[in-house]
Amino acid sequence: MKFSVLTLFPEMFEALNASVLGRAAEKGIIEVDCVNIRDFSKDRHRHVDDYPYGAGGGMVMQPGPIYDAWRSVAGEDRPLVVYMSPQGRRFTQKLARDLSREEHIIILCGHYEGVDQRVLDEIVDMEVSVGDYVLTGGELPAMVMIDAVSRMVPGVLDSEETASQESHYGGLLEYPQYTRPPEFMGRSVPEVLLGGNHKDIQRWRREKALETTWRKRPDMLKTALLTEADKEFLKKL
Ligand code: SAM
Repeated sequence: MKFSVLTLFPEMFEALNASVLGRAAEKGIIEVDCVNIRDFSKDRHRHVDDYPYGAGGGMVMQPGPIYDAWRSVAGEDRPLVVYMSPQGRRFTQKLARDLSREEHIIILCGHYEGVDQRVLDEIVDMEVSVGDYVLTGGELPAMVMIDAVSRMVPGVLDSEETASQESHYGGLLEYPQYTRPPEFMGRSVPEVLLGGNHKDIQRWRREKALETTWRKRPDMLKTALLTEADKEFLKKL
């Protein structure tokens, strides 16, 4: 899967070369290609922003360089264009999964006071927000989105099971995790995990996931897919 990122700060995306995503890129499963919008400035000083019409503070990114940067990667296929924006639809695990089915996504990162509306109207298919707060630029939100979407691409994680058990994937938060040593500061690993009975471990994990969700994010239980056994268990909490 390929991400083409239109940005004024391509160097920020070097952070994606670490860990799981770095390995996925080495294996050729994902590709993150940054396009510097400034390279498409027609200005002698490489300006890409100007004062807003109608006055007001700050600077606005001009439409021309963004449009030309987009044209340099869009080609005939016209991949989906996502603009990272605090005005967009909220980014969720479900949206990450849906976007992971695309072969190629173009991500536009805004900066300053934002982007001239005309180029957004011309090229953008979807606006995505990482939360109800305003950041300096779209680069960190784009990296958040690339990370979460990439984890859903087959082959990026070691096993599909890892992803399917994680928080939010199936509508619940994940059960607690333990590793060696078996005892730490007088606290033991739950007995069931040491026993090796797969069925008991599965039941314990499901119940702990339900309990954790009930305690930390009860709102999620309204939409989670629950079995009759899950509902009976929740009644006891
Ligand atoms: N003036 C804009 C507004 O009020 O909607 C905010 C501009 S913000 C300072 C600059 C850029 O950061 C935006 O163009 C967008 O690309 C990005 N950005 C800021 N907050 C974001 C968020 N919560 N989610 C996604 N992108 C965000």
